[in-house]
Formats: sequence, structure tokens, C-alpha cells
Amino acid sequence: MNLIFLGAPGAGKGTQAEVVSEALGIPQISTGNILREAAKNGTEYGLKAKAAMDSGALVSDEIVIGILKERIAEDDCKNGFILDGFPRTVPQAEALDAMNIRIDKVIELSVPDETIKERVSGRRVCEGCGASYHVMFKPSKVEGVCDKCGAATIIRKDDQPETVLERLAVYHEKTAPLKDYYEKQGKLVTVIGQEEVEQTSKLTLEAVGVVK
Ligand code: AMP
Repeated sequence: MNLIFLGAPGAGKGTQAEVVSEALGIPQISTGNILREAAKNGTEYGLKAKAAMDSGALVSDEIVIGILKERIAEDDCKNGFILDGFPRTVPQAEALDAMNIRIDKVIELSVPDETIKERVSGRRVCEGCGASYHVMFKPSKVEGVCDKCGAATIIRKDDQPETVLERLAVYHEKTAPLKDYYEKQGKLVTVIGQEEVEQTSKLTLEAVGVVK
């Protein structure tokens, strides 16, 4: 199964994509994580991407499409994959269609902007492996330490309040039109984000068709 998770920053795409990834045994592909890793390693495209990411803007379609093409050509994607944070623009969705990749479902996680602003302030990400946490809704077992790899969990630079406002504006302008794009293809399923993560996961698994 090939799935896309769509939603504003902080809507819970990463968290829910991880739940579905474990349930279906297919990889979660986060273009944000790949870009952060590249920026950390100082690769050429990573450095180019960093300035855009830090300001809350999108990285160019050209760079992101190139990354995605390479990643889905890897062996572990043969039985399916979950795209978390791609596509984020109509040209990216068109590029995916042009690759002749069949997308089964697009799960939109719908969360109001006001809730997003509150949520993002508690978000933490692992410096080492990119795993995501939330101080209230999804805390790590030991505060400040990643459950998965033991590295430190930190606040993302682009989760600062001013940057989040910019990212929300970019979401509404450039990414939200993808709802229409996939609705027309009959693939869009909307999940209303709940206060409890587990509740959202239950609705998400139902939307994907995994019965637990
Ligand atoms: P995320 O971790 O998905 O919130 O992504 C963090 C940042 O990485 C975004 O704010 C963008 O700057 C960049 N990014 C991630 N995915 C994409 C994409 N598909 N297109 C453009 N920029 C992206």
C-alpha cells in the first residue's frame, strides 16, 4: 500500500504515519527528516535547504522531488511506503503522478490552526534519529532523552512561534490545494485530529483500512 499523509505542521502526520508504518510493516518517509539530516551533515543540498527550513519556507520542488525519487527507489519501499510531508505543493504531486507511482489513499489530518499553535510549542525532536515527541501528548520515558536511540531531544528551530505562523500560512497557500487535487482523484480521506493521540490513531487506522 502506498499512502500519503497530508496536514498542517504539528497536525500529527509524523506520529500517525509511524503508527501506520508499524501496523503495515512499510517504511515511513519523512522528507523533513531527510532534509534535517542532510543539513546536519552539511551536504550541498542540505545547506541550501537549511535557510528555507529555518525561516519556515518550503525547500524547492526540484530538491525535494530529487530526494523522494531516490528514496522510493530503495529496496524497503518495494511493498509500499508512507509519505509524511510529501507532496507539499501541486507540482510535487504532479511529479509523483508522472513517476507512475500508484497512490492508494491520502489521509488528511485536520486540526484547527489555534490547536496547532498550542501543540507545536510542546513538540520535541530527537537530534540523533529524528523521532518526534510531545511534552504532554507523547513524552519520552526520560525527559530530554530519546526512547529509541538515547540522543537528546530538542526544540526544532522552525517550531518557534513566529516561524510556526509562517509555516501555517505556507500550508494554507501551497499545500492545502492538494486536498482538492486528491479529492478529484477519489483518494482523499479526512481524519479529524482528536485531543488524545490514541483516539486519532484509532481513526487513522480505520481510515487506512487496518482493523485492530
Ligand atoms: P516537516 O518535518 O515535514 O515539518 O518539514 C520541515 C521543513 O522541511 C519544512 O518546513 C520545509 O522547509 C521542508 N520540507 C519538508 N518536506 C518538504 C516538501 N515536500 N517540500 C518542500 N519543503 C519541504
